[in-house]
This record gives sequence, structure tokens and C-alpha cells, in this order.
Amino acid sequence: MLTWWKESLPRTSSPRQEFVRSDASSKLSRDPKAARAIRPDAAKAPEHDPLRDEGVSLYVHLPFCVAKCRYCDFNSYAWTGQDLERHVRAVLQEAEARAADLRPQTVFLGGGTPSFLPADLLHEFLSELGRITGFGESAHEFTMEANPESFDDARAQAARAGGVDRISLGVQSLRPEVLAAYDRVHSGEQALEALARAREHFPRFNADLIFAFPGQDPLAWERDLAQVLACEPGHLSCYELSYEPGTALTRLRDAGRWQAEDPDLCEQLYLRTGEILAEHGYTRYETSNFARPGERCLHNLAAWRNLSYVGIGAGAAGWHQGTRRKNLERPDAYEAAVFAGQDPVGESEQPRAETILFDCLMMGLRLVDEGVDRARAQRQSGLDPVTHFAAVWQDLENENLVRIDVDRIRTTARGALLLDHVLTRLLPSQQV
Ligand code: SF4
Repeated sequence: MLTWWKESLPRTSSPRQEFVRSDASSKLSRDPKAARAIRPDAAKAPEHDPLRDEGVSLYVHLPFCVAKCRYCDFNSYAWTGQDLERHVRAVLQEAEARAADLRPQTVFLGGGTPSFLPADLLHEFLSELGRITGFGESAHEFTMEANPESFDDARAQAARAGGVDRISLGVQSLRPEVLAAYDRVHSGEQALEALARAREHFPRFNADLIFAFPGQDPLAWERDLAQVLACEPGHLSCYELSYEPGTALTRLRDAGRWQAEDPDLCEQLYLRTGEILAEHGYTRYETSNFARPGERCLHNLAAWRNLSYVGIGAGAAGWHQGTRRKNLERPDAYEAAVFAGQDPVGESEQPRAETILFDCLMMGLRLVDEGVDRARAQRQSGLDPVTHFAAVWQDLENENLVRIDVDRIRTTARGALLLDHVLTRLLPSQQV
């Protein structure tokens, strides 16, 4: 089976680690305070929601970074002199072949570090992408990822002029010892300056942060959060440090040279983060994502709804017209295929109905309040999610892990903490 999700889950510049415990007896999973942290009681006004189920999004991947961060398992590469103009030409050529007049409802330019492109090349790239895809007339949101070491005024202006209206900034930490341990190439001061720049040039921006650094002092994490909140991002992504296969960090841990943080402290940090952000007006709308009203990331929301998107660039994944696909990962192989006039696809498949349904559940159950729209999941997969998994839902409801309403399936507060456990029970192989 194509492991499409590695590059198709909503993109950030930090690990896609959600807090999910397989320990069903976790004391915090029964803690009413935990429930409050995940589902604040405050009544929320309905969010403006321009996404159409029949719409398509566009994900564009630029894979180069100044250096490779130790925790990173994205398709990203330290730049060692590769020809950036040539690479950008390849991406645009693929866009001409696969996304001409796509008119996407959202665009996400991720990586890698898109802000690593020189300002003039970035502007040229965005202008051409707009000409090819027509995103200027169709997109409700255009997010670009940026990192503090390269996100200067010239790049910010180039991105804004090129149609970007939302920046997702990889902050990760403000502490020098943490940034150094991750092999990040910027300082905390640069991160705060970049946040101020994002605020100055863009109507919306996000800060990515990572918690659960080994030995992390919870108060130091709270001070980091307070400093970032003072920059007034409308959106925060807060990820627990994860140990993905093949990363430098995982190798260090496996060699006994890096001690992962105690899981109970990770839980406390996760819950405390939710409390602090709720006090500042942010709603946890997805396992690791928080937004003020009107600030949810529409592109990622479309992905969590399992809506259609086209992926362009090295290693980019897509889900469009019943096919999941993933491009060749290596930038040189990708460029060679494109310039030879070939489709740079690496893997593709037409998933069966059960797999599509599982994808709907895997993505949708991450949405804390919204959950899975039953009718949408049935339209996408051809299967009724409630009757298809009837016996499993019964058990999960009895265990207070999910709640099934007339139109939606949601995790309970306890189920949100044990999402991996819930999903394991729903895996297609479990149904055979
Ligand atoms: S900046 Fe670091 S975390 Fe982000 S894509 Fe590059 S290597 Fe990965």
C-alpha cells in the first residue's frame, strides 16, 4: 500500500507528532481537567467556512533548507549548491503539465524552506505559479512556510506581492540550547523578529513550536509560549517532539545518547499548553493546532476533511480524482524526470473503498470539535461509516472513546487523548 500520508498530512516545519497514548489506563485520560483542556466550555460562534467539498487544493513542495534539523523526516535537504533556478523551473514545468488552470481553493507552499529562495526568484516563481494555476482568482488562502534565518523583508515583500497571504513560521523554540540541540540555524531573537515581520506584512500567520525537549522545565516552555503569544499570531501549531524512523535524533536516542522526555511530563505539557492558549482565546481545533476565530488553516482543514488536492514538487503527495500519488523524492531524480518530459510520479494507487473510509476517519477524528462528517465520508468512500464499523463503534462508545451523532463522529475528550488506540481499532486489516 502506498504510504501517502507521510507527505500528505498537513504540512508544517516541525514534526507531525500528535499526542496520542496507547495506554488506555492513563490517569490523565480520566482527568476532568484534561477534558476541559481539550474542549473548552466557552460557546463558539460558527466559523466562516468557504471550503467546498468539490473544490481542489494545491500543495507545492520546495525541498531545500539551510541545514537538516535533527528531528526532521520531511523530504528536505541541506542546500549544498544545487541550482535553485533549475529546480524552480522543474516545479513550474510540472505545474504546467498537471495543474494548469487548476483554480485551487487553497494553496500551501511547503518544504523544505520556501523562504530560502532568493527574493527575486521567489517572486518570479509565485507569479508564474499564479499564471499557470489561476490561484489568484480562486484561492481563499495561500500559506507559505518560512524559517527565521531567511525570512527577511525582501522575501516577505516578494511573497506578499506574489499572492501569499498567510505565513507559517518555524519557530520551534526560543531557547539557544534547544535550538542548538535540534541543529536549527537561527536564534530565538531571529525567530521573534521574523514573527514581527510576518505580522507586519501578512494578514494571518502561524508559529510552529515543539515541546517535550528532554529535561524541559515546564516554566521555560510557558515563558516561550508567552513570548510567542506577545507577537499575536492568529494560529499556533504545538507539537510534541517526535522520534521518526531514520532521523538523526532517533539514531541518537537509539544509541543511548539522547533521552526522550518522560511521557507523563509530555502529557502535562500538552494539557497545560491547551489551558494557556484557551486563556488567550485560541481554540484547539485539531490535535496539535490552535486558532483564534477566523484563523484556522483552510488548506489543512481541507486535508483533514480528506478533500482533493494536487501535489507538485519533489516528494509531493496528492489525492485527486480517486488516485493517491507521490512524486519522486530526490530533487535530482525529480528534475531529470520532468525535463525528460515524464510524469515525476514515484508511486500511485487507486485506494479501495475501505481504505478511503479509513483515511476519512484517520484525518477527520483529529478535528476536535468538527469530527468526521458522516455524509461526506460516505460520499467519498461509498460506504456508510457507521454501519461499516458498527461493532467497533459500539465498543468504542462503551469505552467512552467516541461519540456518534446523527451527522458526525467525534472523539470524546478521552478518545482525543487516545487517538492512536482508536484508529488502530478502525484499521481496514482489523475488519477482515
Ligand atoms: S527547516 Fe528543518 S524541520 Fe523544516 S523542513 Fe528544513 S530540515 Fe525539516
